[in-house]
Amino acid sequence: EAKHQGRNRICMFKPEMNTIVQQRLQMEQAIRQGLFSKEFLVYYQPQADLSTGRLCGLEALVRWYHKEQMISPLAFISLAEQSGLITELDFYVFNTVCSQISQWKNELQGVSVAVNFSALSFMDAQFVPRIRTILEQYQVEPDWLKIEMTESILMHDADESLLKMQELRSLGIHFSIDDFGTGYSSLAYLKRFPFGQLKIDRSFISDVYTDPDSAALVRSMISMGHNLGITVIAEGVETIEQLGFLLKAGCDEIQGYFYSLPLPAEQCFHQLQHREQAQLPPELYANGQRC
Ligand code: C2E
Ligand code: MG
Ligand code: MG
Ligand code: MG
Repeated sequence: EAKHQGRNRICMFKPEMNTIVQQRLQMEQAIRQGLFSKEFLVYYQPQADLSTGRLCGLEALVRWYHKEQMISPLAFISLAEQSGLITELDFYVFNTVCSQISQWKNELQGVSVAVNFSALSFMDAQFVPRIRTILEQYQVEPDWLKIEMTESILMHDADESLLKMQELRSLGIHFSIDDFGTGYSSLAYLKRFPFGQLKIDRSFISDVYTDPDSAALVRSMISMGHNLGITVIAEGVETIEQLGFLLKAGCDEIQGYFYSLPLPAEQCFHQLQHREQAQLPPELYANGQRC
């Protein structure tokens, strides 16, 4: 804006701007330091299959344990993106997840692990080679991994993205479209990309039981996904009513507080070891229901 005001104008710099800029710089420095001193942790949120009621996947979610507080990614992901630290953060998480998978090999059978990547990380020229190196380092079966990305990724350079996705797909890695319904792309456009899963954004699920428009949207997202031959998972499922709706609508999987909170690694490991306890009650999944 200062530019448009011409060369001779003095840009008014308010003291509170100074404070905001300083706070951002401090936070950026703290993230950098936090990466170095391993203050970032990975939590895992279980996902349930709605045809069997069983635990079928985990989503890795980063947490920042800083100054004795657990900080949500909502508070730092966008700053990490703006400062260019996101790629280091995403790969720190990916590395942690692969190390965990190699330790949980026996317990993880039949369970996929999803990792979030920012569009910026994905666009990095070293993205594919870095993924390959880490997979080899930990001897992780790529078929167990799912990469979650939002639609925004495909807006930047669709051809380049497609090539990268195909390369990773050929290794065995799966892809999921995160926060589906909040972006701009049509499913017809997404069809070009090798996504195997569509994740309906929480905002549609939260009022699916009270708002007929959301209900109609969710039903059509599920059938569009199925028409494209991909599975559909609903995120942010908190109530039995929402679950009931999704079950009737033919949704494949659910994730949300109703089934499980995101868990620290040790608790997640315990869930994996006692999977029968993570089974949904029979009336809450298709095989147990008189649909
Ligand atoms: P997301 O990928 O859509 O992840 C789902 C978010 O919904 C998580 O928030 C999860 O804790 C929360 N959630 C799960 N079930 C429920 C529920 O029933 N009700 C409600 N109200 N919330 C639920 P979280 O962990 O705070 O993460 C927020 C976002 O931060 C994620 O949204 C993802 O976009 C981003 N994120 C998390 N970890 C990473 C990472 O390692 N790398 C990148 N680039 N982004 C990450
Ligand atoms: Mg996600
Ligand atoms: Mg999501
Ligand atoms: Mg979301």
